[in-house]
Amino acid sequence: MSKLNSITTEQLRLWDKRHVWHPFTQMQEWERDEQIVIEKGEGCWLIDTEGKRYLDGVASMWTNVHGHCRRELNEALKEQVDRLEHSTLLGLGSEQSIILAARLAEITPPGLDRFFYSDNGSTAMEVAVKMAYQYQVHSGKPERSKYITFRHAYHGDTLGAVSVGGIDIYHTTFKPLMFDSLMAPSPYCYRCELGCSRSSCNMVCIDAVEELMKRNAGLVAGLVIEPLVQGAGGMIVQPAGFLKRIRELCDRYDILMIADEVATGFGRTGAMFACQHEDVVPDIMAISKGIAAGYLPLAATVTSEKVYSAFLGSYSELKTFFHGHTFTGNPLACAVALKSLQLFQQDDLLASLQPKIASLRQRLENIALMPHVGDIRHCGMAAGIELVADKQTGTSYPWEDRIGIKVCLEARKRGVFSRPLGNTIVIFPPLVISNAELDILLNVLQESIQNVTE
Ligand SMILES: *Cc1c(COP(=O)(O)O)cnc(C)c1O
Repeated sequence: MSKLNSITTEQLRLWDKRHVWHPFTQMQEWERDEQIVIEKGEGCWLIDTEGKRYLDGVASMWTNVHGHCRRELNEALKEQVDRLEHSTLLGLGSEQSIILAARLAEITPPGLDRFFYSDNGSTAMEVAVKMAYQYQVHSGKPERSKYITFRHAYHGDTLGAVSVGGIDIYHTTFKPLMFDSLMAPSPYCYRCELGCSRSSCNMVCIDAVEELMKRNAGLVAGLVIEPLVQGAGGMIVQPAGFLKRIRELCDRYDILMIADEVATGFGRTGAMFACQHEDVVPDIMAISKGIAAGYLPLAATVTSEKVYSAFLGSYSELKTFFHGHTFTGNPLACAVALKSLQLFQQDDLLASLQPKIASLRQRLENIALMPHVGDIRHCGMAAGIELVADKQTGTSYPWEDRIGIKVCLEARKRGVFSRPLGNTIVIFPPLVISNAELDILLNVLQESIQNVTE
């Protein structure tokens, strides 16, 4: 019995199956399978209506930073709701959205000081794509309308964001509705498209990016990249120096560099933003997931004075950026985001990650030895474990085997919630996870992999 509203779990499950259409979910299977209904959160744990606890191994879809129901964040939210729940940014300013932009400007890469708010990662990227093109128009180069992207890239699910994505299975159906992007090879070294290996390749995949730029000289508005890690593509980690070389190429060919930090931002890679590992300053940066610590939907597309000023002019010049969402800059979300930034400092969170990242790396080296683990990819507090049918040849499990899902179902029985990316098991816990909890997460995943694959 759920105490909150005295509706039984059975009833909730029934209504869920009857009325809720879940994202990225084959509903026929959902209707058949036993469901967990979450009622509460506590630190890194989710608690269902029957009191069973699950370690939140994927930070509630990569958003949670300081744990669930963190007291300081709850208080900031309660305080704000008694002052103002929402007012629009169309024609008005609002206290929290102003302070947040000023604070974020202090921590984003230098020169990225202009914040265009929206509500989620897809909109932040949609805005970035439109902004980049309109920038080219105002710069007298309307023929620059193409985008370079990478295979296995993920930038969200709205049509513009899907058009610059590179994951076939998400795109096939919608192909007729999308615009074409120029697809560069992914730095997916385990399965290199160019047949190279990381130790000796000298990053020839970068040459392929340059080739695209040359062949489409004067036609490209922007290059879109997830810095350091292609998340949804399978936690594909780029070789050191890759991002820096991409920045240099964008400069050389006068292409706007759009960094999608939706997953990597707010400490995930061990730095506040992934670009900072390589001292790269993109022209446009999208941030969302961790921004409000996993509490509320919030996003921003951040840009430089160079891009921003191209939109300035008299009203009649029609240089206005005609884009906006109703809940843009919501004060509740901004208040939580502000408190979250405070907690980063108060808890010295980034520094506290370093030993955890080191122990994660050590544990992963051990897991890499398992007979059906083909590749381990690790960056900061994110990792992917790619399972293979044959370790020698790297042969994948067939898609229909649902091997990743099976492992996660095993983990669930052992009190860990995780969600795979195909055959890749994902590790993406709230950043505050303790060493003991990290041990539980890794032990359970290792046992579950063993149970399913051996
Ligand atoms: C999740 C994600 C998005 C989309 O964000 P939504 O809030 O789900 O729309 C975009 N880009 C990256 C890199 C992501 O991981």
